[in-house]
Amino acid sequence: MRVFNFSSGPSALPLPVLEQAAREMPDANGTGQSVMEMSHRSKEFSAIIGETEALIRELMGIPDNYRVLFLQGGASLQFAMIPLNLGAVEPGAARKNAAFVETGVWAKKAAAEASKYLDARTLASSADREYTCIPAAPKPAPDAAYYHVTWNNTIVGTKWTIYPDTGAVPLAADISSCILSEPLNVSRFGILYAGAQKNLGPAGTTVVIIRDDLIGRAPSWVPVMLRYDTHAEEGSRYNTPPCYGIYMIGLVLKWLKAAGGLPAMAKINAEKAELLYTYLEQSRHFRSPVEKTARSLMNIPFVPVESGAAKRKEIEERFVREAAAAGLVNLAGHRLVGGMRASIYNAMPVEGVKALTAFMARFEAGL
Ligand code: PMP
Repeated sequence: MRVFNFSSGPSALPLPVLEQAAREMPDANGTGQSVMEMSHRSKEFSAIIGETEALIRELMGIPDNYRVLFLQGGASLQFAMIPLNLGAVEPGAARKNAAFVETGVWAKKAAAEASKYLDARTLASSADREYTCIPAAPKPAPDAAYYHVTWNNTIVGTKWTIYPDTGAVPLAADISSCILSEPLNVSRFGILYAGAQKNLGPAGTTVVIIRDDLIGRAPSWVPVMLRYDTHAEEGSRYNTPPCYGIYMIGLVLKWLKAAGGLPAMAKINAEKAELLYTYLEQSRHFRSPVEKTARSLMNIPFVPVESGAAKRKEIEERFVREAAAAGLVNLAGHRLVGGMRASIYNAMPVEGVKALTAFMARFEAGL
């Protein structure tokens, strides 16, 4: 029996995708081979990576002057690759600066990693509000190498809703936990990146969408594998890419296209989020800690209203345990913030959220 999996990532994948992958496991498309066994330079795999890229371009409306790269190292490696490629300088040259908005743990890590290579300036932070809102975004210095934001904050459940005005400074955004969840105006960004393990496919692939003019800026000392120009020039096949993961992303994208693309996803995702937020509004025992204007569609944390810490912890543990027994798994909040969190990515059906709110009502009745 399949459970409703509310994990923040790796997370649930659409069942038809898993079933298709299972069918094609020993013999993909009449080739007599698994995609796992194919040479990454074969015409069969070339067709797969080509189709996957074409689908992501079509679904996200990626303009022609952007490249799509399939890399490894997770979103975390992009925290280093972006400064290494856009802001690092040759030895002896004056250090550049880059701007950051601190909206949570991942945003903070991006700035900390960048500070090894440039002057990382945090222009605004919602740390004093426990990251439960998105702060107003100040303008960067005109000479900033880039301006970094975490578009959807997986742990605290906030998201950006307005594109910050960065002037001519390229906007860099971590869209790991919201890629393909609703339309995004790609042309407002210089670079976008996402680890695959939430809305795209299995862990192991990172999708990077980068404007042409930002490629080829890395100083000579940056390792070949960490340069965007290397991967752009070689069509993401400078070395062996995560072939099977790219194939799985392709299957997810086909599923998404058949489901109506991003406008349809946005509608379903808004409906799912609305169900849960509306439930939380009327709940006597649980509440959303996030400011209304900043609420994520993908990650919805909730906490007991109980004021005593010990009692709260007891309720949380019981909730997570009993929910799992009812087939609703991975509802514990991130280890840094506690509480509960329902991650409801594209693959989570409306029925999963309805099952969750029904369970919450039963649980509350027993409190
Ligand atoms: N950024 C965000 C917004 C995330 O949610 C995560 C992982 N949950 C990361 C970065 C780190 O991603 P990875 O594990 O792919 O390095």
